[in-house]
Amino acid sequence: MNTFTYLFLFALAASVGLRLWLALRHTRHVSKHRDTVPESFAGRIPLEDHHKAADYTLTNTRMGMLALLYDSLLLVGWTLGGGLEWLDHYWRAAESQPVITGTVVIFSAMIIMSLLDLPFSLYHTFVIEERFGFNRSTPAVFLTDMLKNALLLALLGGPLIALALWIMQVTGALWWLYVWGVWMAFTLIMFWAYPAVIAPLFNKFSPLDNEALKQRIQALMDKCGFRSKGIFVMDGSKRSGHGNAYFTGFGSNKRIVFFDTLLESLNPPEIEAVLAHELGHFKLKHIQKRLASTFALSFAALALLGWLAGQDWFYNGLGISQPSAWMALLLFMLVMPVFSFFLQPLMSLLSRKHEFEADAYAVQQFSGSDLIHALVKMYRENASTLTPDPLYSAFHDSHPPAPVRISHISATMGAS
Ligand SMILES: [Zn+2]
Repeated sequence: MNTFTYLFLFALAASVGLRLWLALRHTRHVSKHRDTVPESFAGRIPLEDHHKAADYTLTNTRMGMLALLYDSLLLVGWTLGGGLEWLDHYWRAAESQPVITGTVVIFSAMIIMSLLDLPFSLYHTFVIEERFGFNRSTPAVFLTDMLKNALLLALLGGPLIALALWIMQVTGALWWLYVWGVWMAFTLIMFWAYPAVIAPLFNKFSPLDNEALKQRIQALMDKCGFRSKGIFVMDGSKRSGHGNAYFTGFGSNKRIVFFDTLLESLNPPEIEAVLAHELGHFKLKHIQKRLASTFALSFAALALLGWLAGQDWFYNGLGISQPSAWMALLLFMLVMPVFSFFLQPLMSLLSRKHEFEADAYAVQQFSGSDLIHALVKMYRENASTLTPDPLYSAFHDSHPPAPVRISHISATMGAS
């Protein structure tokens, strides 16, 4: 125990306290508005669906509070409780090369962490999602996903961790700069390869086969000056009834993906409006901007780690007696979120700014009213709450709250 221990415990208590307070505000706000559909959605979302959205949100938020307390106890257990210290001693006893010992320590910690998290993800998928009619996953799909994830982690994460540890061992005080370079190169490669290599391991992606719709979409893409291998339809229904659309990748691998569940519920003009929104993200270079901020933030984080890794009090304060490169990485990964949570409103703000911009682009290039129709359908079918607590939303939501978003689109339509 040292001063840093107290600082860590104080930050942990503050961030847990803040999260709980926000979640409680959120549940109170949603409960209070449970019996009235907001005015701007009256007639478009039936009271019955509004009730469902409220109940779904309340269940998930309460579950989130439980998970938060559980995770915080685990974090204290891993650090001050001696969990990591024990794991470290256990693998050090095998007397391997430091890079191997370190990789194995990090790896086994990650496996134990995901196993400890398993009850919550099982409960979420097979109890909550099931109860609200969203779950389409089976135990077999769930188990295969887990195995595939573990395999990917071993094949991609293993060498990456080993490389980072090796760099830390052989380069001097500026190791963090090299690790940052490797990490960013890996991020770029993954970003490029993900749509074509990783995502197909989990889902089927097929080209859109509706000829009429395809032509409309092609016309819209031409109008917006967008070249890609086209629109892909993903079998999202394999796991869940939730529908969505997203853009991904860059260069020759950029693509727009629609969940099959979403295509089923939207009519062609609504699909075009959603597409126009996604094209807006491309046109306005949101991917590049997001990558640039990731680069800048990781640079700052690694510079900080570069300094922390050389301080004995950093290890000792978190329950580790013997400093090492791998413990520096592990402790940082575990403890960093406690402090960085306070920056989350900034990240959410940036993301919501991009959403507004993409909406404005869709209004300008296609149609605001079709976009509103599409969004209302998506809110209804995903049981998204229309009445989030404003503060909770400011912290957590990457997308603007439904009423704010809709009124923004209406205002843009009026202005153009
Ligand atoms: Zn968007």
